[in-house]
Amino acid sequence: MALTIGVLALQGAFIEHEAMLHRLGVRTVEVRKPEHLAGLDGLILPGGESTTMGLVAERWGLVAPLKAWVQAGKPIWGTCAGMILLANRAIGQKAGGQPLIGGLDVTVSRNYFGRQNESFETFLRVPRLGEEPVRAVFIRAPAIVEVGSDVETLARIAGRGEEVVVAVQQVNILATAFHPELTDDLRWHQLFIEMVEAQKGRGELNLERAEQTC
Ligand code: GLN
Repeated sequence: MALTIGVLALQGAFIEHEAMLHRLGVRTVEVRKPEHLAGLDGLILPGGESTTMGLVAERWGLVAPLKAWVQAGKPIWGTCAGMILLANRAIGQKAGGQPLIGGLDVTVSRNYFGRQNESFETFLRVPRLGEEPVRAVFIRAPAIVEVGSDVETLARIAGRGEEVVVAVQQVNILATAFHPELTDDLRWHQLFIEMVEAQKGRGELNLERAEQTC
């Protein structure tokens, strides 16, 4: 089953995501306009700068189509700035706020881990991805400080005097506070591809059923 996954390509680390997906045999499309969403099986919102990305998305008429994508239950994965865009609530935003796409029932703290020079790498325990710890690169990273009841926590880390959540899944939405596309570990991309495949399989099954009843 050939998959096509779009990567929002307004700003930030989209090329790195595409390279990972190509290694896994997935076709990619760079999404800059609403019409680029047509025919995609899944979508990635990369890391970068969420305020800029939100403003550019607004200018290009992408905010409403992206909201519709999430509401329709289609697979979407936000990394770092992308995770901020997907959150229903964000704290530590720039004055005047920023456009959010929303859908993910969490509160993110935008620059929780500090500034650029406080960026760091660590290894996370992620039972969903297997025994081996996962290398994670945090760059001016956000953290999830509140998780809604339908949100599954996939990874936690010690924050500033408390544990914070850095990876979650809520049905069709995957979110990671760090940058898996900057490592050599393909497991996060594999997990997202599995979500996309499951969704596509369900769609084709429904189509078959519809044809049978026609
Ligand atoms: N904290 C940044 C923001 O607000 C995100 C940083 C990143 O994506 N590496 O957009």
